[in-house]
Amino acid sequence: MSSKISEQAAKQKIDEIKPKLKQWSKEYYVQDQPSVEDDVYDSTYQQLVDLEKLYPNLVTSDSPTQNVGGRVLPQFSKVNHNIPLLSLGDVFSKQELDDFTVRVEKNYPAVKQFNCELKIDGLSISLRYENGTFVEGSTRGNGQIGEDITRNLKTIPSIPQQLSRPVTIEVRGECYMPKESFANLNAERERNGENVFANPRNAAAGSLRQLDSRITASRHLSTFMYNVADYDDLKTNTQSGLLAELSDLGFRINPSYRVADNLDQINSYIDEYQEKRDHLEYGIDGIVVKVNELSLQKEIGATVKVPKWAIAYKFPPEEEETKVLDIEWTVGRTGVVTPTAVMEPVKLAGTVVSRASLHNPDYLAEKGIRIGDTVKLHKAGDIIPEISQFITDKRPSNSKPYQIPTTCPSCGAKLVHLDDEVALRCINPACPAQLTEQMTHFASRNAMDITGLGPRIVQQLFDHHLVNDVAGLYQLQFDDLLNLDKFGEKSAANLLNSINNSRSNSMERLLFGLGIRHVGAKAARLISEHFKTVDALMAADLEAIAAINSMGTVIADSVTTYFSSEPAQNLINQLKSVGVNMEYTRSDESGEDNSFFNQKRIVLTGKLEQMTRPAATAWLQDHGANVTSSVSKNTDLVIAGQDAGSKLTKANDLDIPVWDEQRFISEING
Ligand code: NAD
Repeated sequence: MSSKISEQAAKQKIDEIKPKLKQWSKEYYVQDQPSVEDDVYDSTYQQLVDLEKLYPNLVTSDSPTQNVGGRVLPQFSKVNHNIPLLSLGDVFSKQELDDFTVRVEKNYPAVKQFNCELKIDGLSISLRYENGTFVEGSTRGNGQIGEDITRNLKTIPSIPQQLSRPVTIEVRGECYMPKESFANLNAERERNGENVFANPRNAAAGSLRQLDSRITASRHLSTFMYNVADYDDLKTNTQSGLLAELSDLGFRINPSYRVADNLDQINSYIDEYQEKRDHLEYGIDGIVVKVNELSLQKEIGATVKVPKWAIAYKFPPEEEETKVLDIEWTVGRTGVVTPTAVMEPVKLAGTVVSRASLHNPDYLAEKGIRIGDTVKLHKAGDIIPEISQFITDKRPSNSKPYQIPTTCPSCGAKLVHLDDEVALRCINPACPAQLTEQMTHFASRNAMDITGLGPRIVQQLFDHHLVNDVAGLYQLQFDDLLNLDKFGEKSAANLLNSINNSRSNSMERLLFGLGIRHVGAKAARLISEHFKTVDALMAADLEAIAAINSMGTVIADSVTTYFSSEPAQNLINQLKSVGVNMEYTRSDESGEDNSFFNQKRIVLTGKLEQMTRPAATAWLQDHGANVTSSVSKNTDLVIAGQDAGSKLTKANDLDIPVWDEQRFISEING
């Protein structure tokens, strides 16, 4: 920023920037749906900082530089933060980080050590405990006043309801959504024609600020605590010691922290985690460097917005240039038609990427992408490839604006927008692409569990005109299957056998397999448990369904709408005529209440080889387990992968059952 800019010009620029930043903050913090990338926000914010530095008299109390972003939604009760929750100052280069440490050490020569921590890509939360019991949890809000989200936080397994000691304490930390859950949630939202979350932080915030805590519970959130706001009985005088003490009390802390004695050590910590970040199960957007001595933290103090004893070093965005070769449209099970950019493959954040979802026609139109464009690609939340911008001056001179298709790529039916949806849909119930997707879902593990009936075989069944719908599966003949690619007598017999076995599945599998909008495996089980037969369910009204275990009207409406349609009624009649069971006969493995893992406190440790740690955690949670991070005498089971360390030793010391990964996988496979 040139120092020559006049005060009047600076004021004009500030007046232009401030409303933009406020609008973006509202979208980001209040609506959890940012419209610009973080680096656009950050560079615009930096312009404001620079201008205000030149003309401090232009700083006003409503400036974004003077306030912690975030507001309180009116639907939540307010919580006053007696000790404010602050943001962090940030730097974007090692030179600026050097300036920070030099400045701190010069002004406070007693500072000898810094604690380096990962900057978790989540949102701040504050938790209050009285005599060891969790009593209140809140968001950061505007730093002074947050939202009361106690009920929602109680659904997060890593937040202890009871501490190991009966202390009264207020702690702060980060609530985050693991990368895998983020990717799954966005994939599901996309399939349902909903807006996707831009990053794990917005996804976590959107999941925590829900009026229905069951939605929060379904989002697999987790936490790392890193700060104590109010507690007189700390046994340590360092930030690193505080993390260990939080862990002793029963909080989950991030184990990657490291005390650094000098800038070289801080820099090597940064380099190490810049390398490792792609392999972490959660997103990080930088490193936080904190003065390690707690008494010095207090002495150094804070501005109205940030502590002066800590700084965030933000990683540069990982971006690669590539070229869009094509835009493909795929039809999902519910008829949503999604565009995907197919690009020249590039290596990005540890993997080779050649495809990125363009979500929906609005998004595609907004980005203005054309075939042949050179684009910049990054990974949202370190995981989902996304086009961040296209480079205008590399656009070929003969390029034409991209025409959004008006007909279904699979069946040619006219595409429509339902209600206010941004998604384009094919509403032809006989659309082959939808039928294929539906059949694959019908056969999937949590639905009818027809082993061997994957997408490739389903496609062939349709291509050979052997089936028209899922009822057709039950009329397949041995000889029909022999005509399929790579099918011999053995594979044909196996497939027929598993189709045949699925006839007797309990009703909840069928209900889930029908793919009714909003009816997941759990809702299907609750509904089946209640109504016992498909006939009784079909005769039920919306209120009766909505009342089950406070299921709610969205699911109930979807179920009644589905069963009132003629094609659905015909399908049920056909399934009945081919002998598919229509009653609830829950077997041991079909309901989570009967799962071995239900209500068990389980710790995962070491490196799993056959599935990722988040996937294992999600599976266990889906089966009713409480997955915790530390081993105690209350732990029921430890699942230990490769190179398990102190947790395994502790489990052995306490005589807690330990399974290896193979045993766990066998249990999953029944
Ligand atoms: P921040 O995210 O840069 O950093 C502060 C936060 O880091 C803390 O509040 C805390 O929640 C978190 N944190 C994670 N790990 C931590 C650890 N180990 N120790 C301490 N804190 C830790 O600041 P902010 O005020 O929360 O958000 C500002 C940022 O949000 C901007 O820099 C920008 O990137 C983004 N933003 C984007 C938009 C947009 O439109 N894209 C709008 C507003 C803000």
